[in-house]
Amino acid sequence: MTKKGRVFSGARPTGRQHLGNYLGAIQNYAELQNEYDCVYCIVDVHALTTVETTQELRQNTFEMALDWLAAGIRPEETIMFVQSHVPEVMELHAYLSMVTPLGKLTDLPTFKEKIRHQPENVNYGLLGYPVLMTADIVLYKTDVVPVGIDQVPHIEFARETVRSFNYRFQTQALIEPQAKHTEIKKVLGIDGKEKMSKSLNNHIELAASPAETTKRVREMVTDPARVKRTDPGNPDICNVFTMHKIFSPQDEVDMINVECRRAGIGCVDCKMRLANNLNKHLEPFRAKRAEFESKPDDVQAILDDGGKRARAVAQEVMAEVREAMKLP
Ligand code: SF4
Repeated sequence: MTKKGRVFSGARPTGRQHLGNYLGAIQNYAELQNEYDCVYCIVDVHALTTVETTQELRQNTFEMALDWLAAGIRPEETIMFVQSHVPEVMELHAYLSMVTPLGKLTDLPTFKEKIRHQPENVNYGLLGYPVLMTADIVLYKTDVVPVGIDQVPHIEFARETVRSFNYRFQTQALIEPQAKHTEIKKVLGIDGKEKMSKSLNNHIELAASPAETTKRVREMVTDPARVKRTDPGNPDICNVFTMHKIFSPQDEVDMINVECRRAGIGCVDCKMRLANNLNKHLEPFRAKRAEFESKPDDVQAILDDGGKRARAVAQEVMAEVREAMKLP
């Protein structure tokens, strides 16, 4: 089947992935492979802008690769690699920085937010982040970048930077990427309030054991107005019900929707049902993950091979870039 073009996406190595990562991104990564040539990058250099120590960087990269593979990334067709394995990205970052006005970077809301978060470490990497991200995208002849609505400005930045570069050096060496609008599902954590996140410790890891998963589900916050078993509940405001709609069979969802409202089902029972359905859903993922985990050399070989294939494309692009710039 002829594919529609090339997709690029990158994610920081945050270690073991959770349900929020899975529903918000990884599932989409796997589906996109059916329509596009995909390039998926674990952006370890970007991670350096915020991490205090690199002690866990390798392990986190490995864990993330395991989750991607177990979730259906097919390395025989998709290029799955680690950002720092293609040093050409640093070179392109430097060239693109020459056509990027400083004010444009300092004005970006994401930069302002970052310096609010870590005022004690406002490094150049934080400022140049969008330029490096542009280099990531365009180095692999990317046609399309899947983005949620809040990431559209990043792609606009990349497109403008490509236009500036191509205009300045009178070339077509770099392709302007298109944004592919994707509904990025916002998954709430077990607190039922904040977005699921490892740093808030409100997450459920994909690789957790069935017992750990059940324990986390049992900790989930439900309809706060339902204090006693005999109180009727409101599934519309309950995160447990939101999860049921994703992981449970339709007849069970319908039953809970009715029974919760008339106190016909208790929250403990409701959560146990969710835990069982979730564990069932994750069974094939966990089996595949365990298989990859038992062969770390194979996983490393997949990343190395992805790096080589990514680098072959990058070297082609960089040859054109250097030629266009008339570098001696
Ligand atoms: Fe939420 Fe289920 Fe309890 Fe209703 S019965 S409040 S849907 S956990």
